[in-house]
Amino acid sequence: MEEITWFCPVCNGFSTIDQDCSNCGSPLIDQGRLFDFFDPYAPYRPIDALKMSDGISFDYAGHQCPHTMLCPICQQKETFLIKEQNDKKST
Ligand SMILES: [Zn+2]
Ligand SMILES: [Zn+2]
Repeated sequence: MEEITWFCPVCNGFSTIDQDCSNCGSPLIDQGRLFDFFDPYAPYRPIDALKMSDGISFDYAGHQCPHTMLCPICQQKETFLIKEQNDKKST
């Protein structure tokens, strides 16, 4: 059995999230993985899956990495799910 390693290209620096604030249109700043910066009072949660309080199990199941983006202008937080990639080698 070969092992498949999943990784988030954003967490690993291969990619960046290029999104604008839905409120004021300013470029959002990546705040890192959601788990590290999870804000229970965040008013804006567009992703239904985030209703799950246990984000880790969701992450495990979906191979998606939730990132919280912060608008430096109006302080709005938005969450984006980044598709994780795998480095499975085909031989
Ligand atoms: Zn990530
Ligand atoms: Zn904004």
